Amino acid sequence: MSGPTSTKDELHVEGDAGDAAAATFELLPSRQSTVGGVPVRRALPRRAHRTVGAWCFADHMGPTSVTETRGVDIGPHPHIGLQTVTWLAAGEVLHRDSLGSEQLVRAGQLNLMTAGSGVAHAEEATGRYRGELHGIQLWVAQPESTRHGDAAFEHHAALPQLELANGTATVIVGSLAGTPSPARRDTDHTGAELLLRPGESVVPLPPEHEHALIVLAGTVAVDGHAVRPGALAYLGTGRSELALSVPPSESTRVLLLGGAPFEEQILMFWNYVARTRDEVTVAHRSWESDDGRFGEVASLLPRIPSPRPPWG
Ligand code: MN
Repeated sequence: MSGPTSTKDELHVEGDAGDAAAATFELLPSRQSTVGGVPVRRALPRRAHRTVGAWCFADHMGPTSVTETRGVDIGPHPHIGLQTVTWLAAGEVLHRDSLGSEQLVRAGQLNLMTAGSGVAHAEEATGRYRGELHGIQLWVAQPESTRHGDAAFEHHAALPQLELANGTATVIVGSLAGTPSPARRDTDHTGAELLLRPGESVVPLPPEHEHALIVLAGTVAVDGHAVRPGALAYLGTGRSELALSVPPSESTRVLLLGGAPFEEQILMFWNYVARTRDEVTVAHRSWESDDGRFGEVASLLPRIPSPRPPWG
């Protein structure tokens, strides 16, 4: 879920690079955090890899149990310069934003919000849904060409799928094996969910893209390394295909992220993706003074205050 992010990323990296001749494989443990009352495993950003393509943030949320009185509840908060990609494996969350959008998202559906120069939103589950909640909240850094533009929201109730040797891929954004998603994208990046059965599946990749995997459930082996929930497997560039092996009696759900390496230097602070401290300071003041830049969200949850930028 898109919640407020902490002001700093823990400097915590475990390398597992193979020999120089082999393709890149680095297993980076996620950082434990809590957002909106639920535990999350933050896979991006990591110190070793701040971005994968334009993907700049990934919080694996749950699985957790939503009851009548306890679930994910993230009050109104602002964003600039990024897209939020909400993807659920189980459960439901209601999205409300300052554009007037009110959209329930369920497993297998996409909520995609573009912040541009400013938007605010809230996400809530308590009182609306009971049962398992499991998903991932991703951010995509917007490029210079669109990051000062208008905010936008789109919902995709169904997305294209393709069959793999031992599983199914859903193309969330971008294109996989020639199958494109209809979702907006401002840079050359891809996100897909792979539901894999035991055995090997091979996915073709554009070698000019860098790639990474986040396992949501189960186990997958890549280049002989086991990848499980709680880590980002960074795969680098130069791969024209990816072989994924699932052990017997497992059922694995994995997110494949990729894209052309994002060359713009970004500055992330709280819910802002910017380039300079001044941009963050101005956004912070706008949110704290509620000067209208971020609009109003029709949510009963309290507004989340912005932490003060540490540079004063
Ligand atoms: Mn958010």
